[in-house]
Formats: sequence, C-alpha cells, structure tokens
Amino acid sequence: MLDIQSIRAQFPILSQKVNGKPLVYFDNAATSQKPKVVIDAISAYYEEINANIHRGVHKLSQLATDAYEISRSKIQHHINAKYNHEVIFTSGTTHGINLVSNGFASVLKAGDEVMVSALEHHSNIVPWQMLCERTGAKLIVIPMNNEGELILEEFEKLLSEKTKIVTVNHISNALGTINPIKEIIKKAHEVGAAVLIDGAQAAPHIKPDVQELDCDFYVFSGHKICGPTGSGILYGKEAWLNKLPPYQGGGEMIKEVTFEKTTYAELPHKFEAGTPNIEGGIVLGTAIDYLNSVGFDNIAAYEHELLEYGTQRLLEIEGLKIYGTSKNKTSVISFNIEGIHPYDIGAIVDKLGIAVRTGHHCAQPIMSFFNIPGTVRASFAFYNTKEEIDALVEAVKKAKTMLS
Ligand SMILES: *Cc1c(COP(=O)(O)O)cnc(C)c1O
Repeated sequence: MLDIQSIRAQFPILSQKVNGKPLVYFDNAATSQKPKVVIDAISAYYEEINANIHRGVHKLSQLATDAYEISRSKIQHHINAKYNHEVIFTSGTTHGINLVSNGFASVLKAGDEVMVSALEHHSNIVPWQMLCERTGAKLIVIPMNNEGELILEEFEKLLSEKTKIVTVNHISNALGTINPIKEIIKKAHEVGAAVLIDGAQAAPHIKPDVQELDCDFYVFSGHKICGPTGSGILYGKEAWLNKLPPYQGGGEMIKEVTFEKTTYAELPHKFEAGTPNIEGGIVLGTAIDYLNSVGFDNIAAYEHELLEYGTQRLLEIEGLKIYGTSKNKTSVISFNIEGIHPYDIGAIVDKLGIAVRTGHHCAQPIMSFFNIPGTVRASFAFYNTKEEIDALVEAVKKAKTMLS
C-alpha cells in the first residue's frame, strides 16, 4: 500500500494553488510532474559535474561520462535489454520513432507495407506516412472497435509477406486502452515483419520487458515518467540497430572522417550524433530509480483503483459518455457531455483549479472514428487521490449546469 500523502509531499508543484483553488493535476498523460529527487538531480548535475561527455580526459568530463553511462545501464536493466548498447538516448518518443522510420527508408521498396493502428498518436502516424511517400510503400491501418480496442482478427488478415514493419502503441494516450502487444508482436514476426512499440503511455505504469515481449524497437519519453523534458529512450535489437543507417551525422557518431569517406562509430554512439541532453539522460536514470522505489506493481494497483472510482463517479453525471471502454485500460478517462463542447468544460474546470486536457489528444483519427471534435481527458497518476476525483466530478457538474 502506498502512502499517498507522503508521496505527494515529494512533488513540490502539487501544493500550489491555481485560480485560488488547490491544484488538481489530471493531465498526466501529457506530462508527469517531477519529484524533488529529480529536480535536485538536475541542479546537482549543473552544480557538480557539468562537462561534455566522451570527449575530454579531464576529471569533470569523466564524471559526466560515467554518470551518463551508468544511467544507460540502469535503463538497460529496467527494460531488461540484453546489451546496454541497445539503449539509445533520444530527445523523446517522437525522436525515437523518426530515427527508426528514417532508417527504414533503406529497408523498404515500393509495394512494401507499413502497418500502424487506428489508435496511434500522430507521432506514430506521420513519420510512417512520410516514409511511405519517400519509398512508395503503402500505409495499412489496423482497425478498432467501439470499445477502442484493436480488432485482432482484422490485423491477422492484413498481415502478409509484404508487411515489413508493424508499429503500435503499448497503451493509447487518447483512450487508455492497453493493447495486446505480445500477441501482435508474435503474429507480425510470423510473416517476418519488424515491430516497433510506442511505449510513451506505458512507461509510467508498467515496467516493460523487451526480451520477453520480443519487440524489435521500444520507445518512450522521459517527461512522462517523472523525468526531464527532452530525454527519452529508443531500445532496438542489436541486429536491427546495426542494420539501420545513422539518423543524423555529426560529432560522436563517427569512427573516422576523411573527405572521401566516413566510417561510423559502434552502437550506441552511431545513433547519438552531437552533444546530447546529458543532464536529461542522467536524470532519466534518477526518475526510473524513483519509480522503482515506489514500485510499478503498487503504482498499477493504485491507479487502477483511481480508474474504477473515477469511472463510477463520472458516470453518475447524466449525459456523460466515456470513450475507451476496454476492460484492459490504464487510468485515462476520456469523456464528453451530450450537447457541450469539450473545450468549454475544460475552461470551466480550469477556473476551479483542475487541469484536464481537452481536444483531439494528437489522435485525430480516433476522434473521427467516434465522430466527435475531441474529448475531455482526465489522466491519473499515483500521486492523485479520490478526493481530487470528487473535486473533478463536482466541477464537471457545475460546468454542465452553467453550459446547458
Ligand atoms: C506523448 C506521446 C507521444 C509523443 O511523445 P513526445 O514526448 O511528445 O515525443 C507518442 N505516443 C504516445 C502514445 C504518447 O502518449
């Protein structure tokens, strides 16, 4: 059992007042708040060891390099990657996906197929569309049902030897659906396709085991898991990372440069051109340590309790409809009230100190599927409480009265 009050005390921002009311932060699917250990680790980096990494022989450079590489190994163990050079530091999920999609330009030929799902975030759609435009490959979409679940029978029918890569999210940011990725990975491998998992929404709730999943790529962002903005991870199987060409050229990613020909550095440096976000990479390790100290099982169990409580309480409001009703979902509740625009609800609850997201959540195809302009999305983290959910319910009721 988690001691939520002492956890909350570790997050300085949570004791703020917004518009004169205690802040209720329910926009965790957009970015998480940061505990004091993470904030302190950022200052400590700049106060104590700031230097460029992998370059100097001087003491600070060694300290910074060590801290960066220790963080890489921490992340390797956290996701159970076989080698630490399979862990590439990125600026976030979007960067990781673009790195892989660009690399696939050298793998695909016209007529090949790239498969995405109907549940994707724009950052797991657009890079693949750009790749298809470049290569003449075709974009195929795994459909979903009214619960917001992918239809696996349809997925299997769409697979063929033309399928070269399947890219799906582990958990949908717009609806909270947890996708059966293990099954998807297995089926895709049967036709020889690679699989990329967008773990941006899963990483805050689940400790992924990339070897057990057997995915070829797994990406996530630091800022959604209590870490710094501009940090992130691309995991790739060694064989794939060796096969794909570098994404960016520059310093640190080379072995030898002449004007005739450049040879590339070994993994992971081949994909880490230029000075990286050193502090971000180091502190991402601090954030992962912090979450492991809270415990992913504890986090998942408590958030599930919040999800059930929030679902039940919100459904007390007449005319309220929840989008995303899979039995397998995380603590995301996307909803609308009949006849009211989601933006208007968001604006009123903000006046009452409650932060929710309104709009299409970077997933316009999902909104088109349900034929709605957007939703109000409340996404809970392990530092939220049932009392905060009560405050949301009261605020939404008030908004409904004012707007109807
Ligand atoms: C947030 C999110 C992204 C994009 O992450 P960035 O940190 O903005 O790069 C991609 N996919 C999903 C499912 C997300 O939730």
